Amino acid sequence: MSLLEVIAVSKSYSLDAPAVRDVSLGIEDGEILCLLGPSGCGKTTLLRMIAGLERPDQGRIMFEGRDMGKVPPHERGFGMMFQDFALFPHKSVRENVAFGLRMQHMATPELDRRVVAMLELVDLARLGERQVAEISGGEQQRVALARALAPGPRLLMLDEPLGALDRALRERLMLDARAILKRVGMTAIYVTHDQTEAFAVGDRLAVMNRGQIIQVGKPLMLYQQPATPFVAKFLGFQNLVNGFVDEDGSIVTPVGHFRLRESEPTPGKTVTLLIKPDIEAISENSQAVPQPENTIDGTLDAVIFRGRYLQVWVSVQGYRLLFEEYGDFPFQPGDSIRLTVSSSQLLLYESLPQ
Ligand code: ADP
Ligand code: MG
Repeated sequence: MSLLEVIAVSKSYSLDAPAVRDVSLGIEDGEILCLLGPSGCGKTTLLRMIAGLERPDQGRIMFEGRDMGKVPPHERGFGMMFQDFALFPHKSVRENVAFGLRMQHMATPELDRRVVAMLELVDLARLGERQVAEISGGEQQRVALARALAPGPRLLMLDEPLGALDRALRERLMLDARAILKRVGMTAIYVTHDQTEAFAVGDRLAVMNRGQIIQVGKPLMLYQQPATPFVAKFLGFQNLVNGFVDEDGSIVTPVGHFRLRESEPTPGKTVTLLIKPDIEAISENSQAVPQPENTIDGTLDAVIFRGRYLQVWVSVQGYRLLFEEYGDFPFQPGDSIRLTVSSSQLLLYESLPQ
C-alpha cells in the first residue's frame, strides 16, 4: 500500500465538465511525484482535495491507510507551497521560517534549533537576519521552502513553486529544490506545467489533461513511450502526423511511407504517427529514385545552433517537422533534402474517437 492513495476522486465546481475526473494515484514514502499538465487541467484542484481544502464529490483520499475524508486540513499534517508563496517582506528570513512553528506553539529553544537547521538545509544560514525584501528572488524561494519544511510535514505539496521566476533561475532552483527534498526524504507532490522542470524534479511523472490522469511513469519511460499524442506533444515532441495503414501494413502519411519494427498495425486503420527527432541519415534529395520507406523528402526551413546539436526544421506537405543533428550538416535553408529515420524512432497511435 502506498503512503498516499487517491482513489477514483472527482470534483465539479459547476455543471461544466468536471475539474477533476476519476483520478487514482499512489505516492510512496519519500517519493517526489510531478503532476504535469496544461493550465486549467485540474492540478490545483487535485492538490486542494488532498490538502482537505476542497471536498471530493466522489472517491477517497487515504494516508497511511487512513481515510482522510473527515480529517480537517490542519490535522492532516501536510504542507503546501504556492507560486505566490506570501512571505512577510519586512520580517527577517529567520522570522519567516519560524512562522509555522510559532503557529504550532513550539517552545523557543526547540524553535531556534529548528530554524537554524532549516536555514542550513537551504544554505541561507548567513542571511538569517536579513529582511526578505532585501534578498534575491531565488533566495526568497528557498526561504519559502524552508518555511514549508520547518513544521516537518508528512507530505509537501508544491504548486508551481517556480512559476514566477525567469528561465535561468528556474533551471538552477529546480535542481536545488529536488536536492533539498531528497536530503530530508520528503514525500512530495510537485506541480508544474513545464516538462523540463518535471523531468528534472520528479522520481515519477503524472501527466494530466482535462481533469484526468493520462499517463503515470518514470521520466525515461514517459519519454520513450508517451501513451497518447497529447502526452507526446506535451513532452515536447513536435512530429505527429496523421495517416492510415496500407494493406501490407505500411503507414501512409503525407510526409512519407513508414514501417514499424515490431507491431503489425491493422490495415485500413486511421492512425497518428510520432516520428522522434533523431535522424539516421540525411542526403540531398534526388527525385529520380522512388522514395523508400522510412524516408522524408522535404525542404530545409531553418537550422538552429543549440550547442551540442543542431535543430533542423523541415517543411513537408504543410507539416513543419523538427529533427536533431549531432554530426556534420552541409545543407542550407531552401535545400531539398531526404531524411531517413530508423523504425525504432517511430511510435504509432490508433486515432481515438473524438
Ligand atoms: P490548474 O491548476 O491545472 O491550472 P485548476 O485546478 O485551477 O487547474 O482548475 C481546473 C478547472 O476548474 C478550470 O476549468 C478552472 O477554471 C476551474 N476552477 C478552479 N477553481 C475553481 C473555483 N473555485 N470555482 C469554479 N471553478 C474553478
Ligand atoms: Mg494551478
